[in-house]
Amino acid sequence: MLKSELYRELRTELHRHDFSTFVDEPPSIAQGGQGVVVTGCPTCRKKFGTMPRFLDHLTDDVLPAALGQLRGSVNGMVRRRTLEVVKCGGKEGSHETTSARH
Ligand SMILES: [Zn+2]
Repeated sequence: MLKSELYRELRTELHRHDFSTFVDEPPSIAQGGQGVVVTGCPTCRKKFGTMPRFLDHLTDDVLPAALGQLRGSVNGMVRRRTLEVVKCGGKEGSHETTSARH
C-alpha cells in the first residue's frame, strides 16, 4: 500500500470520530427517558471530558483498530522497508551515507 493511500485511509477513519456530545442511554430526559447528554465520541459512544482524553481515544482505540484492518498492507510495507535496510547493510563502508537517505 502506498503511503498516500495509507494516509487517506487513516484520515478518513480519524475524521469519523469527534469530541462532541451524545445522549447516554437514550431516550433523553427531554424525550421522556432517563438519558443524559454527555461529552465524548458520538461515533463510539465513548464518554470523556477533555481534549487529551479525545486524543487518547484516537491514538489508543481508533488507530490500532484502523491499522488492524490494514494489517496485511502495513506488514507488506514494513517487510519492504526491512529488505531495503538489509540491502543497505550489505554495502561495505557506505552504510551511514546510504541509511541517511532513508
Ligand atoms: Zn470514536
